[in-house]
Amino acid sequence: MDSGGPSRLAGLVIARVALDIALRKEFDYLVPAELAAEAEVGRRVKVPFGRRDVLGCIVALTETSPHPNLRPITQLLGHQSQLTPQVLELARWIASYYCCPVETALKSVLPDAVRKEHDGWRERLTVRILPVRGDFPKLTARQQELWNILEEWRELPLQELLRLAHTTTETIRRLEEKGLVTIGSEISERDPYAADVILPTDALTLNPDQARSLEEIRGALDLIGPGPMPGGAPPSAPPAKPTPAFLLHGVTGSGKTEVYLQAITRCLELGRGAIVLVPEISLTPQTVERFKARFNHGPNRALVAVLHSHLSSGERHDEWHKIRQGRARIAIGARSAVFAPVHALGLVVVDEEHENSYKQEESPRYHARDVAVVRGQREGAVVVLGSATPSLESYYNAKRGKYRLLELPCRADNAKLPVVRVIDLRNESRKQKGLQIFSHPLREAILQRLERHEQTMLFLNRRGFSTSLQCPLCGFVAGCPNCSVSLTYHRHKQKLCCHVCGHEEIAPTACPDPKCRNPGIRYAGLGTERLEDALTKQFPKARVARMDSDTLKKKEDYRRILTDFRTGKIDILVGTQMIAKGLHFPNVTLVGIIHADLGLHIPDFRAGERTFQLLTQVSGRAGRGDVEGEVFVQAFTPFHPAIQYARRHDFQGFYDQEMEFREQLRYPPIARAALITIRGRNEEKVRLTADHVRKELEKTLAPLTDIIIAGPAPAPLLRAETYYRHQIMLRTRSMSRLAALVEPMLAQLPLPDDLKLIIDIDPVNMM
Ligand code: ADP
Ligand code: ZN
Repeated sequence: MDSGGPSRLAGLVIARVALDIALRKEFDYLVPAELAAEAEVGRRVKVPFGRRDVLGCIVALTETSPHPNLRPITQLLGHQSQLTPQVLELARWIASYYCCPVETALKSVLPDAVRKEHDGWRERLTVRILPVRGDFPKLTARQQELWNILEEWRELPLQELLRLAHTTTETIRRLEEKGLVTIGSEISERDPYAADVILPTDALTLNPDQARSLEEIRGALDLIGPGPMPGGAPPSAPPAKPTPAFLLHGVTGSGKTEVYLQAITRCLELGRGAIVLVPEISLTPQTVERFKARFNHGPNRALVAVLHSHLSSGERHDEWHKIRQGRARIAIGARSAVFAPVHALGLVVVDEEHENSYKQEESPRYHARDVAVVRGQREGAVVVLGSATPSLESYYNAKRGKYRLLELPCRADNAKLPVVRVIDLRNESRKQKGLQIFSHPLREAILQRLERHEQTMLFLNRRGFSTSLQCPLCGFVAGCPNCSVSLTYHRHKQKLCCHVCGHEEIAPTACPDPKCRNPGIRYAGLGTERLEDALTKQFPKARVARMDSDTLKKKEDYRRILTDFRTGKIDILVGTQMIAKGLHFPNVTLVGIIHADLGLHIPDFRAGERTFQLLTQVSGRAGRGDVEGEVFVQAFTPFHPAIQYARRHDFQGFYDQEMEFREQLRYPPIARAALITIRGRNEEKVRLTADHVRKELEKTLAPLTDIIIAGPAPAPLLRAETYYRHQIMLRTRSMSRLAALVEPMLAQLPLPDDLKLIIDIDPVNMM
């Protein structure tokens, strides 16, 4: 075509596009005149690439391009840009800090349901149930089936309902004629059923500690001032001065949530929106309802949108657009809700900020708490991190004055924190001649609760029946064929399962070794399934339920078990970490931790911190009502600091002693860490490549004076899902400099095809 010089065509617009296929490169396209008015940064587009069309996103508009022969954009998708400039900037920050292609970061900031919307936003028909007035009409079998589904979902996009119910539009129309459902094309802001099930709540009168915390947060909100008027353009200017970010350290049950709620109220008064992040596991209907109940009514009525992974893709699409269009001003959700396109963002709350689930374990490996802090800084929004057991990172930041520390040392209603008793399992097994699951004092305590009709929660962070199968004659241990772990026996399924890769095989009744065939194989180690079994045997009158990922097969299971527990249909609830967090049951007066030291002796520098957090959180489930709670902690290493400080509810004590160890070894939060994993099926090749990578790193990172390069060494879990893994750990105080040096080096490092290199900045999982 032309001479091959750069494109500089007066009056024409050029769009820089990041394609969904990650190429670590942006491409320039011409914007045809008829699309020029509508093209904007953040808009999804279809563009020609090679011989096909691919999807992408406009990341910049310019008038010049260094490239000749630009091809035009094929099509603009959707009605408006999906990415606000703020979220786009955040994606760029993620790409540079977490060392990943910008395309990968862009993928994470938009839900799939929104991103893959090829034809753009189409108004979809929604079917919604109506309150039944008078006698319930007679239904045919097919209509009844359809009604059952709708009753559960209350509202579903028509297309999805058709698919789910294997039904026709005709049948749905019949239900409409009978006055049972309405089919609408517009998505109404008002959820007509919210009022039926969610009772509105008013602000509680705060206790002095809560009031002081709220005052500080409000002060910060007032500093950033009111947002633009509704309908106006979102503010794009960066904030004049940095806003404080807060750390709210409040013991379990101290009323942190009430502080969040009232801070959001002020945020709304200022015409600003809010994001609330909660860990996936505590994103229960209970949590969401607390927020909806407060903001569904009154002068500051605001729509709450919920974003999490258990929504159907249609629901996620709708919730996201509610926020994007500015109809919902509060977004509540798990990790990825940190990218919610909330207009005029005023406040980001990260509840249980220490939770590991905020870290994404696939690329981009971002930490939602850290992204929240960065987003707050960039958009001039106030960030509140809350926890009963702050991460050492956040507490350290608070101590250094980077965050303002707010403390709620007492429970909100002045209930006492539970008494925690540590039981030495070594003594117990001596006294009881062999190890029993329940120590004598715990057994007595459970009996007492059963008599008094109070409830008990028992916690064991290991599912299955027993943790290994062993032959005492030949020494055979059943291991996973794909991973370097032993298989867990699940009695109900009669299977041996790998908790790393999901491999399953039928449980043998005799030693599988053909030379041995000993029928006397032994199942050793204790899991929740066996704990439940032991309870029903030793306390035959007790009504026992178990909650772990094995018992939760359906979406409703979680809710059903919790409702049964709340309404007193269950005396003892057994569970894994699923029952450790956020649950509030006033009638629970006893908590038992069966093996407190399970997580202590693993090769991870955060093992102590995790154990302390878990024990504190689990203990926090006890005594949230009128009767004081009691906690029994059974342990083989009862004097470990993590256990002893948790016993005394002494966060500060734990922090001080743990920081000594981190300081000596220069582990986070003293320095920042990056973990490089090289994985492949040929272990020798993995090892050699890891050695080579280390040499390259030494050269590349020479400018960093404080760098520590440790390894390569085999990963604690050497083999996972058929891959051998070797690791190198990097530690430095200046992670952004490290990322800037390492990213280009890794991008052009020649690696054998069958090996993969993964870089994890600020890793949470060291295995
Ligand atoms: P946290 O989030 O710190 O664990 P919650 O917000 O769940 O604590 O509060 C625990 C309980 O205390 C809840 O039932 C809540 O309604 C109640 N509560 C919170 N603040 C107050 C208050 N100021 N007065 C009375 N009850 C309160
Ligand atoms: Zn496995």
